Order: sequence, then structure tokens, then C-alpha cells
Amino acid sequence: MGQSPKSLSSVCVFCGASNEADPTLLEAASQLGRDLAAASLKLIYGGGGVGLMGACALAAHKAGGEVLGIIPHFLKVREQRLDVVETIVVDSMHERKIQLFDRSDAFVVLPGGIGTLEEIVELLSWRRLDLHAKPVVFYNVDGFWEPLFAVFQHTVDAKLTPPEFMQSWASVRNVAEILPALYAAMPVPESDAELSDKA
Ligand code: AMP
Repeated sequence: MGQSPKSLSSVCVFCGASNEADPTLLEAASQLGRDLAAASLKLIYGGGGVGLMGACALAAHKAGGEVLGIIPHFLKVREQRLDVVETIVVDSMHERKIQLFDRSDAFVVLPGGIGTLEEIVELLSWRRLDLHAKPVVFYNVDGFWEPLFAVFQHTVDAKLTPPEFMQSWASVRNVAEILPALYAAMPVPESDAELSDKA
């Protein structure tokens, strides 16, 4: 198994950058930011000040949480880089993604568009290749992500993806369930797993 977190201290949030999103989604993103701060979990995110990403980061920051944004040069203006939080400016989308991945112990996926899809498909495909064992939790509010899960199942039904792949993430309907689901999905350290095997 590739990267496997020993404890949960940083959480990457993937989510939409659109300001047109339903206000309930923006509020959910803010609530998650506050929850991360209250749990002393560092938020790692795309560095922008727009949409759900901006709402989550600002709320975490205002609640006293640690926040790290990672944004490519060319998006600093377009995604309105948040200058009140620590930010790393990188050269490319690929560098952004690798830094988001390396610096995070776990991932939360809120509703988003094509950018969010791109990020999580890569993350799950790496999981499928055993490149990491970091928890992934979808905030599946009102079944937002069901069409994506159906596509995944479609590839399983066609025997193009192994059925175990469908166990590689958790899905919750309420913001309050996100952090408990992340903790529940943390990999058991090898020494503990050996002990429980012997018991
Ligand atoms: P969206 O879900 O389309 O609103 O995009 C959400 C975030 O994903 C935005 O910050 C985009 O800049 C980012 N994004 C889109 N495509 C990529 C990519 N290929 N690599 C890294 N980030 C991306």
C-alpha cells in the first residue's frame, strides 16, 4: 500500500469554485470549515476565495482554524486567491494536485463541477492502484453524487472495475457526519491490526 496516514491532522476539501451555487451548499461548506477548525484539523484546499472553496476556507479561518491554500499562478486572479490564509503559489494544475495530495491525510468531496470531478477521479483511481489508503468522504447531499456512483457501478457491472472499488469511499448526507466518517475510515495501523488478528 502507498501513502497511509498514521493520524488525522490535515484534511483536503475538493469542491466547486462557483459563486452561483445554491446558498445551502455555500452554508454547508462554511459549516464544514467551522467543524474542521473546532476539531483542530488543518484545511488544505485549492487556495481560491470563490464558491464553496472560498466559503469553507474563510469560515475555517474565522473560526481560528489552520488553512493552507495551494493555487497556480494563472488562477490567482480568476479564483480570487484568499490572502488572509497561508498560500503556496505553484506553476501548474498538476503541481497543485500533487501538493494537495501529499499534504493531506484525508479528503472530503463537496458538490462541485468538472474541476472537482477531475480531482476526485484521479484520487480514487490512485486508491484503486493502491497508491494510497487515505480516507475519502463524499458529502452526498440530496443524492448529489448518485449519478457519479452509478457510473462507477456501471464500470463494475461491465467487469472493467473490481467490485471492491465501490468500498473505497464513504458517503454521507449531513455535514455533521463528515468528520466522524473520516475518522471511521482511517486505516488501522499495522501493529494494531496484528494485535487484533492474534486476539
Ligand atoms: P469546479 O468544480 O469546476 O468548480 O472546480 C473546482 C476547483 O478545481 C477549482 O479550483 C479548479 O481550479 C480546480 N481544478 C479544475 N481542474 C483541475 C485540475 N486539472 N487540476 C487541479 N485543479 C483543478
